[in-house]
Amino acid sequence: MTVQVAPQKVVSIEYTLSDGAGRVLDTSEGRQPLAYLHGAGNIVPGLENALSGQEVGNSIEVVVTPEEGYGVYDDRLKQNVAIRKLPERKAKVGMAFRLESKDGPRNFMVTSVKGDYAMLDGNHPLAGKTLHFKVKIVDVREPTAEEITHGHVHGPGGHAH
Ligand code: ZN
Repeated sequence: MTVQVAPQKVVSIEYTLSDGAGRVLDTSEGRQPLAYLHGAGNIVPGLENALSGQEVGNSIEVVVTPEEGYGVYDDRLKQNVAIRKLPERKAKVGMAFRLESKDGPRNFMVTSVKGDYAMLDGNHPLAGKTLHFKVKIVDVREPTAEEITHGHVHGPGGHAH
């Protein structure tokens, strides 16, 4: 029986993610555990590294720096854009668009609107944040051939397609 977290295993975790002030940003509580394919970059590198070699039933606490998390905050990904140039020609705070950037397509979120212009931010909402994870490993199993091909997990806690 597989019990240890290693590359190309499907790992199910219960987790709570908090910021430095102890505010909960995300949690699996009240939902089914998150299932991911280990070593495939499905989760942030700092958490994936910390889980390597852990066993089912272990609980760990991990502090992940922005570099090992969702990236450092990049001011160059903020841009003021004329609303008439946006795909839907309208803008509201919280709207997101997929736009071309110099590193390929990227999600941009409207963070403010002033007159005919919208401020777009292409940073991940958690960019620049130190992440505090509490994680319990609840299951480790072998992936199916299809999961390996797709690079992610299917079924409960994974992709539904
Ligand atoms: Zn798939």
